[in-house]
Amino acid sequence: MRALVESICRGKDDCVRELFEAFGSLREIEQRLVSRSVAIAAGSSLPLITSLDDVALQKIVMTMVETLRELGYDIDRAVIERVITGALEPNDNESSFVSLVLRRFLYKSLKSSNHPVFQTPWEGSICPICGLVPIAAVRGEGQSLVYRCLCGFAWTSSSMTCPQCRSSDVSVGRAGDLGLYRCRNCGHVMVVATEEQVGGEEGDFFPLAAALLLSSAQGSGEGRSAGGGI
Ligand SMILES: [Zn+2]
Ligand SMILES: [Zn+2]
Repeated sequence: MRALVESICRGKDDCVRELFEAFGSLREIEQRLVSRSVAIAAGSSLPLITSLDDVALQKIVMTMVETLRELGYDIDRAVIERVITGALEPNDNESSFVSLVLRRFLYKSLKSSNHPVFQTPWEGSICPICGLVPIAAVRGEGQSLVYRCLCGFAWTSSSMTCPQCRSSDVSVGRAGDLGLYRCRNCGHVMVVATEEQVGGEEGDFFPLAAALLLSSAQGSGEGRSAGGGI
């Protein structure tokens, strides 16, 4: 993960340190959320984030508000509610942070209750849990890619196709040592790494690092981010 983080930070030591600190803070939040063992019942319509009933929704909101407050983050419950229901598209630091923590909390809760979505291989193009189009993937065997969603869900595509439009007309560029796959049909961009590059304790945060890489490339005019929305 260090090489990936260094690409995002363009070698600036302060930036590298801050990003690893941010990963550490997120890990602490997640561990605290998971330790509360909140059982969330989700329906069957996909993505599951859209099929939470009111009880599940309130349980998530309450747990997030309380846990984040304990850790010193004062987040308005209305922001969490609006991000879950899709009424608020993440558009600033607070809503992006809520969206990320929410997705990862939902993934971990459903995983620990072994929701049926984990019991059969997923072949769709969007994440069945949180509905995002992946912007990060790890090279698998042959031409296969393992899509990695921001929430933590991962699934395999047997070929190098665009997850957004399923086109196989993909150009392969580079961002430092990483692959940058751009769909010629719809413009969707994905950061592609090797297993080795996303190894280590922080590998769990590869999709977040990929989102940051794409938005920093967008900011400097080197590339275009698509389907981010963290
Ligand atoms: Zn997801
Ligand atoms: Zn496409």
